[in-house]
Amino acid sequence: MQHIQLNDGNSIPALGYGVCAIGAWQQNDDYVTDVIFRAIEAGYRHFDTASLYGTERNLGEAMKRSGIPRSEFYIVSKVWDNEQGYNNTIAACERSLARLGLDYLDLYVIHWPVPEQTQATWQAMETLQQQGKIRSLGLSNFRISDIEQLLSFANIKPVYNQLELHPYMTQQALVEYCAQHEIAVSCWSPLGSGNWSGVAASEKPISDPAIKAIAEKYSVSTAQVILRWNIQQGRIAIPKSESDKNLQANLALFDFALSAEDIAIIDALNRNHRYGADPDTAYADNMQMDVPA
Ligand code: NDP
Repeated sequence: MQHIQLNDGNSIPALGYGVCAIGAWQQNDDYVTDVIFRAIEAGYRHFDTASLYGTERNLGEAMKRSGIPRSEFYIVSKVWDNEQGYNNTIAACERSLARLGLDYLDLYVIHWPVPEQTQATWQAMETLQQQGKIRSLGLSNFRISDIEQLLSFANIKPVYNQLELHPYMTQQALVEYCAQHEIAVSCWSPLGSGNWSGVAASEKPISDPAIKAIAEKYSVSTAQVILRWNIQQGRIAIPKSESDKNLQANLALFDFALSAEDIAIIDALNRNHRYGADPDTAYADNMQMDVPA
């Protein structure tokens, strides 16, 4: 598996597995644990979860069942909007660790920007790192203005920003800004979102005719083209799949390479289309959503 070097000296597997809405939103039964276990068996070691997803216990159980040493996994979790602030963030991270059954996270991420809370939340994350509870500190859904704010007081720089990023939402200006500041980019809903969005596959970039034509040329699937488009440009991608066929296909990205022309064709499909929430307006809705106990 290809790794991406982070600005704090650590590295992250370029392809991860998104542990959100397996089955249904916040589902946390044996089915979810079994799917994660199958992902481990397929070869995934980087897992992206969050307190909000309700899947931390399932992930911890699947890791334990695998018998694979903790050190071989790369585990990401996130602090939810109503868990932010100094003391709250320390407590939220400890709850995440307890649910996962782990004593450290590889990467802890602010799930969405809450600018009034960012300084206190970040200070808590710096403390958690000093305590050995997190290895790297990251962001999600941060806009340029949010990153500027954070960099004005941060003692430790964020290693990455996790964004909605797929061929219909390429976030070019933000991606360039992150590159200038040595902040890696991780792409959420890289294939155009899971069932939670209610969007039909025919409306997603995996059904786009231009991507279909490229996929035929390389004898791969449209999902593989999209994931390769990210990985080849140094971005991290965290697709979710419940089928063994797709789980395996999404890892098989390293024996073909897209031409610069094909990358440009995919870049040009951008239409600034979000399947998920917009950081400009997400806060009010997010505050209505609770982390499952
Ligand atoms: P994805 O873009 O990963 O799409 C998932 C959908 O694609 C599923 O319906 C899946 O179906 C299908 N799929 C997967 N692989 C293939 C394939 N090879 N061919 C065809 N279809 C395929 O969207 P998600 O919304 O699930 O996002 C992934 C992850 O991103 C989440 O799990 C979460 O970790 C993260 N995320 C982060 C957010 C944030 O705010 N930071 C917000 C939203 C997501 P099937 O299961 O049948 O394979």
